[in-house]
Amino acid sequence: MWYPGHIKKAKESIKKNLKIVDAVLELLDARAPYASRAYEYESLFRNKQKILIMNKYDICDQEKTEKWIDLYKEKGYVVLKTNLKSENIKKFLENKVAKHIPLNYKEKRAIIVGVPNVGKSTFINRFKGKKSTTIGNTPGVTKGVQWITVNKEIKILDTPGILFPELYNKSIKNKLMAIGSIKGDDVTKDDAVFYIFDYLKVNYPHYLDNIVEKGSSKENAYEFILEFAKKRNFIKKGGIGDYYRGRNTFLKDFNDGIFGRVTLESPEDYEQIKI
Ligand code: GDP
Repeated sequence: MWYPGHIKKAKESIKKNLKIVDAVLELLDARAPYASRAYEYESLFRNKQKILIMNKYDICDQEKTEKWIDLYKEKGYVVLKTNLKSENIKKFLENKVAKHIPLNYKEKRAIIVGVPNVGKSTFINRFKGKKSTTIGNTPGVTKGVQWITVNKEIKILDTPGILFPELYNKSIKNKLMAIGSIKGDDVTKDDAVFYIFDYLKVNYPHYLDNIVEKGSSKENAYEFILEFAKKRNFIKKGGIGDYYRGRNTFLKDFNDGIFGRVTLESPEDYEQIKI
């Protein structure tokens, strides 16, 4: 879990790094386009070109996620979508991102930020092993900062900015657990699994049939997880499914997107949307 000290330190580090970039690439999880944004950082980014990147587009419900993309575009954001697991990230940067980054230095410079698990390391690690350079002649600000050279035109800051999301309500917390941004404990894991189950039951009922044996109980999340555990051969003495192993595996598999394409929220679900 995070402590105010961590959050303060992370914010300070982002603030410092913002002074030396022209654009902020904020990665979002396309399955939770609202919950995976970190609004309390907006004021930090105020004077920077902000590019929202919906990552994990391969495992989202594209129709639902497109509604968010339209909404963010209407509000004036540059919004791009990608699947960093298989997309050629260099080409993505060159062809889709670069034109939105203003040129203030010799080259265009950007920082990658996002809440945990949205794909920041995947993005940055794709360039690892390539030449990293140290640019820096402003004492106390840029000294020692490592850059990744994408090409002559673009450089990316080697340190991803971890944003700590605002856990201002229970459903946001559950969604962030579903997409692996927060880990939680026994109680909150139960909450998240029950939340996902209810959501799938209403919005994607046919998925439940793929997850457990046809005809098995889908009355409530607890029984559903027991059935899921049995299907995975997590069986306790007496032939009962192992709830804890089942629950943890269900959360992991859901997060990996193996049950199918799901998006956990629509703009209509919110009375008020902070943009
Ligand atoms: P970070 O915490 O923001 O640095 O996130 P990571 O880069 O460690 O990614 C978290 C997980 O998401 C890893 O298992 C990645 O392989 C996976 N991942 C990243 N991008 C994508 C994507 O576009 N699609 C899918 N399906 N998985 C992704």
